[in-house]
Amino acid sequence: MMSADRTVSPDLRSWVESANDRRTDFPIQNLPFGVFEPDGNGEPRIGVAIGDRIADMPAMLDAGLLDSVEENVQRACRERALNSLMSFGRESIRRLREAVSDALSAGGPVARDPSAQRRVTRSAGEARVLAPAVIRDYTDFYASIEHATNLGSMFRPDNPLLPNYKWIPIGYHGRASSIVVSGTDVRRPLGQTRDGDKPPSFGPTSRLDYELEIGAFIGRGNAQGTRIPVDDADDHIFGLCLVNDWSARDIQAWEYQPLGPFLGKSFATTLSPWVVTLDALAPYRVPARRRASDDPQPLPYLLSERDQATGGFAITLEVSILSARMRDARTAPHRVSIGAFNEMYWTTAQLIAHHTSNGCNLQPADLLASGTISGPAKESRGSLIERTWRGTEPLTLPSGETRAFLADGDEVIIRGWCEREGHPRIGFGECRGRVTPADTA
Ligand code: MN
Repeated sequence: MMSADRTVSPDLRSWVESANDRRTDFPIQNLPFGVFEPDGNGEPRIGVAIGDRIADMPAMLDAGLLDSVEENVQRACRERALNSLMSFGRESIRRLREAVSDALSAGGPVARDPSAQRRVTRSAGEARVLAPAVIRDYTDFYASIEHATNLGSMFRPDNPLLPNYKWIPIGYHGRASSIVVSGTDVRRPLGQTRDGDKPPSFGPTSRLDYELEIGAFIGRGNAQGTRIPVDDADDHIFGLCLVNDWSARDIQAWEYQPLGPFLGKSFATTLSPWVVTLDALAPYRVPARRRASDDPQPLPYLLSERDQATGGFAITLEVSILSARMRDARTAPHRVSIGAFNEMYWTTAQLIAHHTSNGCNLQPADLLASGTISGPAKESRGSLIERTWRGTEPLTLPSGETRAFLADGDEVIIRGWCEREGHPRIGFGECRGRVTPADTA
């Protein structure tokens, strides 16, 4: 399957010159889907990122470049969100990818037609990206054992990792209405917090944090009452994106027992705009993380040989902070962590198998986030509360400012990319958001 997919052939080149730059996130092998407004105030359109441009799907259809694609898929390409496209399943999306790849290829007919090139692509710099889909349900998992252990040891020093962790992929139902696309400001939330033994008070969070995560957009869903086996899970994933699951740690610490996160999380979640399909990610699949020899084996419904062999994704992830003072001084964003998605304790397929194991129906464009991605190294901790160990080891920014948690004006920038010998680097673009002051009026 991996070798048969010509859209990821390392030899492909595009007539979009910037897509052939080795540093781009969007070479012709990537072709991630998203939604954009061409000049910032037009109608939302579905697009595919290619170098520093966006292939405009309705314009590609008008130019007859997607005639080989099924008619219902063509119709879905004219919609204002990816929901319909996501519902089709991987075979249909692969044929669409092939048609888009041919149209953008240096060997294709458009390569010799500059006027067609201008019609079917737009400048990414002049476009405004929008949320890729209308997300009806959002589930956030807790799939990094290092993150769970770090957080557990802060919130429950005597009992850091609960006894269920190595048996069940832990998750909770997040809020879909407050999911925003990269570039949207995030207002510091108000909430109830408790300082030591003093009575609780209400006010702006003083422990605003980010969480570095990967999101999986569900493709084809499952009927209520049926399950998705681990080995079928890939056929139900449309693609992956970057997620910042903003968290207010003081609100979270006071409210989360006994039912889990609520207002400490539900004020905002930021997504990167481009959804990288599983076909584009196929060359970068790696084995699942190997469990320690004294860890239990997953129960049979969570275990498959194929998933253990190829269930991981070799995605490198980094988080940077740009403070208001740094922005004014034109300082570059400062990297505060770098980690790897393949260090997760549970694979994405296991999360899907578990989510549906009780017959819960997943629907196209549902978002499943991985949980904070932290590794064993200090630099790979995917949240500030871990990076600064609950604020006891503040970070110093190039401006000389220190950070235990996020300050107003701080911008958090997440990036992610895949690399493999003999293949081009592909990336996810950016997931960024700036903190604005609380609404205390
Ligand atoms: Mn989270």
